[in-house]
Amino acid sequence: MAATTGVVLKRTRSFYYVDVGEPEPRLCRIRGNLFETSRYDQRVAVGDQVRLDLSAAEDAGWILEILPRHSKLSRTSREGSTEQVLVANAETLLIVAAVRKPDFRQGLTDRLIVAALAGSLTPVLVLNKTDLASPEATAAIQELYEGLGYEVLLTSATEAQGLPALRKRLQERTTVLSGHSGVGKSSLVKALFPDWDIRIGHVNHKVGKGRHTTVLAEMYPLPEGGYLVDTPGIREFEPAGVTRTNLDTFFNELAPYRTQCRFVGCSHQHEPECAVKEALAAGQLRPSRYESFVAFWQSLPDGSDWKTSS
Ligand code: GDP
Ligand code: ZN
Repeated sequence: MAATTGVVLKRTRSFYYVDVGEPEPRLCRIRGNLFETSRYDQRVAVGDQVRLDLSAAEDAGWILEILPRHSKLSRTSREGSTEQVLVANAETLLIVAAVRKPDFRQGLTDRLIVAALAGSLTPVLVLNKTDLASPEATAAIQELYEGLGYEVLLTSATEAQGLPALRKRLQERTTVLSGHSGVGKSSLVKALFPDWDIRIGHVNHKVGKGRHTTVLAEMYPLPEGGYLVDTPGIREFEPAGVTRTNLDTFFNELAPYRTQCRFVGCSHQHEPECAVKEALAAGQLRPSRYESFVAFWQSLPDGSDWKTSS
């Protein structure tokens, strides 16, 4: 049997579109008996490197094995207990935000940074619509996130500002696009690649007629190398592996303080002798980031650590 490897570009409930270096992706299925669980359809994600048997047909194939992942963007399933991998093996989570119209939303940005870090992706913040805000307003946001150690790119899709740096950031990597609707994601993609016929923000639409054909994520090979992944599920989701107990480890600036609290497992909210609250009162932490931490903490389920599977 001739085995080869490929990358999963898109999946529906039962089919996987796999890039094997041919002009068109192969339409592949999994042999049901290859995975011990009946939920095997949850287990192969967009971005996965898979080993394939392509000998049976010219345009189809069988997935034999998932190769090890180096990152995963995953959420807890609706039932709340298992992990659903949205995108495997991406290097970058591109967090697109507008500086104005809509107003910059720090809570969502901070939440997406946590999701990236929890899955071993590098978060990169793109501040778009710089043409609509004062340079000072834009610089304040830029300085906050650069101060935390994150890369920030400034763009205006309509004025074609900042595009070369963004284009360079996408090359030779797999990048997941995220951000609230209306911030300019599709405008940026269009401005970068005017001749490229993809429609960002449309992957949630059903393909075909069946009930089981919703596409969770789709990965597009970029004209200049690398891949761009569009996934609508990333905005409101609960990142897998993030709990009330470990949330503080995903807020970089808390590192010097979080182990200095009097109580182990301190929530940094109500407890006495909390080093985080003391640092906040002393002006060593940004109040807005602390607010994001508290809001995220309160949105997480009480007491239970999520079960994760790989
Ligand atoms: P998406 O939902 O994130 O894909 O956002 P769109 O790309 O559809 O953009 C939403 C609206 O913002 C559209 O009316 C765009 O023309 C506008 N827009 C996008 N980027 C910019 C920008 O850099 N400056 C300004 N002024 N408007 C922009
Ligand atoms: Zn504390």
